[in-house]
Amino acid sequence: MSLESDQEIDVMFGLKTVLTKIEAAVSRRSKDLPQIAPKLVAVSKIKPASLIIQTYEAGQRDFGENYVNELAEKASDPTVLEKCKDIRWHFIGHLQTNKINKLLSSPGLHMVQTVDSEKLAENLNKQWLKYRKDEEKLKVMVQINTSNEEAKNGIQPTDTTKFVEFVLNSCPNLQFRGLMTIGQYDYDVSKGPNPDFLTLAKCRQEICENLNLDINNVELSMGMSSDFEHAIELGATTVRVGSVIFGARPPKNT
Ligand SMILES: *Cc1c(COP(=O)(O)O)cnc(C)c1O
Repeated sequence: MSLESDQEIDVMFGLKTVLTKIEAAVSRRSKDLPQIAPKLVAVSKIKPASLIIQTYEAGQRDFGENYVNELAEKASDPTVLEKCKDIRWHFIGHLQTNKINKLLSSPGLHMVQTVDSEKLAENLNKQWLKYRKDEEKLKVMVQINTSNEEAKNGIQPTDTTKFVEFVLNSCPNLQFRGLMTIGQYDYDVSKGPNPDFLTLAKCRQEICENLNLDINNVELSMGMSSDFEHAIELGATTVRVGSVIFGARPPKNT
């Protein structure tokens, strides 16, 4: 990946395209679903800070990264700090215990979307005390392994109530914001609604009933470049979109 090819990417166009498609998907969404304006998290992994700044200057505020080192580096980049004062970083990767401090000390960290074990929740709850400002809680989502794939992180759908209850009752420094899934990558929509998205929505229904939560306050983070419109039609309140905005990434093992 050369820097030149990145510079040629028209992020303004990509961003506008995604926002237009989000609007259109919202208009197709069932009126029975919570009428929440979906939030776009621009997934900037592997992409340089210069493109993040361009996207910020085009109006985007929420950005996602899935490696702690990369998020920490970009969030601390002097130009990003200077030009992107209101940037909100979302961590969307697998979080190892030994990286928690590095993540939590990153400027502009807004949310950890991938809490997937009680141990991790406890650690975040404890460590956040060192970094929080104005007693603000750390916003978290709980990652659910909706596709039941061994390689995927996340708790089992059937454990959702118990786990969310734990976060609510035992982690006073965390603010539970919703549920997140990655799901299977190559689902063919001609077969009908994506079962991962249906499962995540069902998990939300269940925790709202079991824990007496207002459904309007529980987000669903689901959908990426290939399926964010479909995800919104099924109730996504946060979509995580990378390649449509920033251009394709090189294959993982090159
Ligand atoms: C990379 C990534 C995305 C975005 O993927 P695109 O297909 O480029 O939109 C979304 N969510 C997670 C967790 C990711 O790692």
